Amino acid sequence: MPEIEVPVLIVGGSLVGMSTALLLAHHGVRALAVENHRGTAIHPRAAQISQRTMEIFRTVGVERIVREKSDEQFVQDGAILAVETLAGKEIQRFIANLNEGVTDVSPCRRCFISQSLLEPLLKARVQELGGELLFGTEMVSFEQDADGVTAVIRDRDTGQTKIVRAQYMVAADGARSGVRQQLGIRMAGHGTFSKSITIYFRADLEPLMRDRNMTVIYVFNPVLRGFFRIEKPFQSGFLAVNIANDLGHPVTDVSTGLSEERSLQFVRAALGRDDIPITIENVMHWDSAADMAERFQVGRVLLAGDAAHVMPPNGGFGGNTGVQDAHNLAWKLALVAKGKAGPDLLSTYEPERRPASALTVEQAYTRYVVRVAPDLPADQHQALVNDLNIEMGYIYRSSAIIPEDANDDRVHENPRESKGRPGTRAPHVWLKRDDKEISTLDLFGGNVVLLAGVDSNALCDAARSAAEEVGIEVDVHRVGEGGLTDPVADLASAYGIDRAGAVLVRPDGFVAWRLKNGENESAKQMKHVLLKLFSRSPAEFPV
Ligand SMILES: Cc1cc2nc3c(=O)[nH]c(=O)nc-3n(C[C@H](O)[C@H](O)[C@H](O)COP(=O)(O)OP(=O)(O)OC[C@H]3O[C@@H](n4cnc5c(N)ncnc54)[C@H](O)[C@@H]3O)c2cc1C
Repeated sequence: MPEIEVPVLIVGGSLVGMSTALLLAHHGVRALAVENHRGTAIHPRAAQISQRTMEIFRTVGVERIVREKSDEQFVQDGAILAVETLAGKEIQRFIANLNEGVTDVSPCRRCFISQSLLEPLLKARVQELGGELLFGTEMVSFEQDADGVTAVIRDRDTGQTKIVRAQYMVAADGARSGVRQQLGIRMAGHGTFSKSITIYFRADLEPLMRDRNMTVIYVFNPVLRGFFRIEKPFQSGFLAVNIANDLGHPVTDVSTGLSEERSLQFVRAALGRDDIPITIENVMHWDSAADMAERFQVGRVLLAGDAAHVMPPNGGFGGNTGVQDAHNLAWKLALVAKGKAGPDLLSTYEPERRPASALTVEQAYTRYVVRVAPDLPADQHQALVNDLNIEMGYIYRSSAIIPEDANDDRVHENPRESKGRPGTRAPHVWLKRDDKEISTLDLFGGNVVLLAGVDSNALCDAARSAAEEVGIEVDVHRVGEGGLTDPVADLASAYGIDRAGAVLVRPDGFVAWRLKNGENESAKQMKHVLLKLFSRSPAEFPV
């Protein structure tokens, strides 16, 4: 007999496991996340949080606190640049200001906050929403059958074990995922190209900053290649070192046999000064790799985050991609666990997230080659794609999207060009509700949403009656109804619909279906769309 029964068991409670727990709690699903470590992340690791991740944080009510704390830790809106040394010459600016040229596409801004500061904020919100996190607890074994997953978890302090029975299990157990290995899923890609280190140190860096607003500082000199991140008030930071000495070598190792003296030499060489007192606080050893899991799902077990894809930190995509996995997965798990959607809805996770992740892994690798290791073969990496396309312009294709056009195989586009096309992120437009400014994005994140033009009364009625008949909750938002207004008349053009048209938006803010002009829409067709989106059999409700 299982001692704990939950709809979803999450293995790993770091950034991605925690985000999965948070999103499931937001959807009202009881989930249990077990984390081997006794607390949240101690190493800063991820810090660049994309606009898309901030939009997700906005939905679950943590955007404001994340922004406030980020301001305390880092200067925001800094440059991403390369220098010979911190004291010396600048070589190139890759991005002049983290938020330059992107603020029109979202109500949220990119921000910089380390994982070690972010995770406690997410944890507090999980607990506020009633989610369960067990730290110091390892998932030691699992097996799955046709109806669920049975796992053994062990308290690291007491050694006590418990049996957990769940309908589904999410493996957010990181790059060395034991779950992935047990399932026999292989990783494929560029493999490991650097045995890297991150040196956490203290030093008075303020004079070397020279009032420059810098977010990620690549160091490119004959001794080493890597990058700095420096916290306010410029008395501490880290130096990641990917390459040293064997410049030009395809696989390099700065980790093996590292001494404290060598770490000090690296920091001095990157600062370009050897007269500044430095205290080494810690060194983390990690593999820089760019690989994808060949599958993201086996039966009732789904991989998310670094368990599904690993990439070098260049671009700041790794953790964000994992949060997007969690976001794609949570509403599907919630609806399936509640019996509202058919289990096939979960089969749309891999076809949607794998291409988006593959793009991101390749683009992180491209940034590694371009910014850190230009001696690596140029024909083995993709051409550079704009950060915005990677962060927000990834395109989904699956049975949970009702396409308008033939598949053109594109995996990304500028989010300004998607205009509400099914399979793309529903665009941000400022609207008003009762004179209060809201983003279209503030309407999404709970139930499926029908967002409709001002002359779409008949369509909205059809949606309401179809939803009631099939027992699916749909929030209908029509401009001109319930205090919702579109003062700048932006909605129609941003979504490619006319005044009688509408879009059906999934809980993850992706457009599932669009009706450019709603004149001829009927409840029957609407019912068909909802059944398809929720992987329910049309035989349940013959049309
Ligand atoms: C130097 C550096 C800088 C980076 N900068 C950025 C950045 O700016 N932006 C960004 O988006 N990403 C960045 N990344 C990448 C980011 O840190 C990772 O992608 C992210 O941490 C992955 O989160 P995760 O939860 O999938 O995996 P992890 O953080 O590895 O967490 C997995 C967790 O699972 C637990 N676990 C494993 N097995 C079990 C088990 N059997 N039972 C219980 N618990 C288990 C582990 O203890 C661990 O806590 C950076 C990485 C590095 C190294």
